[in-house]
Parts: sequence; structure tokens; C-alpha cells
Amino acid sequence: MVGFANAMEVFSLLDRSNCRRCGEKTCMAFAGAVYRGIKPISACPGLDPATCARYGTEKSPPPEGDDTLLAALLDQVGRLDPVETAARTGGTVVGNRIVLKVLGKDFGIDADGNFTTDIHVNNWVVVPFLTYLVQCRGDQPAGEWIAYREIAGGRERYPLFRKRCEEVMKQVADTWPDLFDDIVHLFSGERLPVQFDADISVVLKPLPKVPVMICYWKPADGMASSLNVFFDAAVDRCLDAGAVFNLGTGMARMFEVLALRHGIILPAA
Ligand code: SF4
Repeated sequence: MVGFANAMEVFSLLDRSNCRRCGEKTCMAFAGAVYRGIKPISACPGLDPATCARYGTEKSPPPEGDDTLLAALLDQVGRLDPVETAARTGGTVVGNRIVLKVLGKDFGIDADGNFTTDIHVNNWVVVPFLTYLVQCRGDQPAGEWIAYREIAGGRERYPLFRKRCEEVMKQVADTWPDLFDDIVHLFSGERLPVQFDADISVVLKPLPKVPVMICYWKPADGMASSLNVFFDAAVDRCLDAGAVFNLGTGMARMFEVLALRHGIILPAA
């Protein structure tokens, strides 16, 4: 069976009639539900058996690493000194928990691996969060921006990062005019003055010492739009390239889900 890189891949298989026989209001909503593993693709009666068999009940791909990685990270975090860890990572200690600001919201963990948070917990957030607690050396951000491919170990992964992070965010931005205002509002972000001649530049903080800048160039004069994601030049002192990959692709997936919830009809890939 084959997995899906994003909801657009599911959507491209559908007839886009919005007939509602799957129980969803639109084919796009159904595509999002399949991608998130909430519905099997076979719930659309318009698909032929061969397509259903090919994609089966596959869910979205897991973040890099697997349950073994998650278990190892939880074990390492459980043995950290909360006070030292909070000071090093820019967090706080609340009761028996280490609490960090993740996209402006509190995200905490105790020594037994129990999470407390105002945002949805999934592996796309959890793996970078735990990796950050273990790997962050305590350095402040350098104040310079670099692309993913410039991070140690990022060059080889960049084509996939481009596809799963930057292309997905660009599709959402092309279709949702208020995207950047909304994410700045929802996630305590900041609009920046012009960066790299981009039309829009925003900074979000998915982790306290890991600022992420998203630059968007609108389509103009026959040129297609463009979107690039930049990380602080000191990001490799907080996260390895795999964790940065998960962070970027997780944010892209979150924007996609937000667009679907807002009833934004995203174009086919
Ligand atoms: S049943 Fe299939 S074609 Fe109809 S709305 Fe659902 S996904 Fe679209």
C-alpha cells in the first residue's frame, strides 16, 4: 500500500463532485480526513476498488523516526533535571512539569511523560519538542536566517522538505489571503519589514529558541508565487536536521488543516 505526502494527494484521486456520500461536506474535507487517518479512502464510493486497494488504510507518513525514537526520547527527558532543562531551553518549571511556549501556547511534560498543552498533541509536535529538551545547548538565536539546506545534514533532505513543507505552505498561502494575518494572531507571531524582497514575512516561534521565518512572494508579472522557510543560523545548536524537518513539515500540515477548517478549498496539487 502507498501512503500520502499531503491531503492534496488524496484530493487528486477524487472526482471533486462534492456529492457528500462519504459523510463529508466536500471532497476537500474528505481528503483532509483521509490524510489525518480519520476516514479510510474506501469511504468514497466514487473510487474504484483498485485505487482503494492501492491506498488501503494508509495514514499520513509518520515523522522521521518511529516509536523506538519516541520511547528513547521520553526516557531521556524523564531523566533530565527540570530546573536545569528549563533554564537551558527557555522554559519554566510548573509543579513537576517542564513547560515551554510552543507557538505561543504552553506545552508541558512531567517526568512520567504526561503532556499538558493547549494545542493538539501529535508526533509532528512531540518529536521536535522532546528532541529540543534533550539537544538544546542553551545558546541564544544568532539573528541570521538560513535555508533548510544550509543546516548540517539538511542538503540531502531539502528536496523532500521543499515538497512537504514549502510547497504545502505555498498552496495554502495562494488560496487563503488572510493566512499570514491569521497565523500571526493565532500563534503569537510577528510581521517583519521586508526580508529578501518578499511581499510578506512573518516570524513564528515553534520553540523558545527556534524562530522560523516564512517569506511569501505573491504572483506578479506572469511569475508564479513563491514561499521559502528560513531558520535561525544557530538552529543546529537546538535541533538536528531530522527534528527541524519534522518541525517544518508539521507546521505546514497544521496550516493545511487550518485552511480546511476555515472551508478554504485548496487547489489540486
Ligand atoms: S463521496 Fe467522494 S466524491 Fe462524494 S464528496 Fe465524498 S469524497 Fe467527494
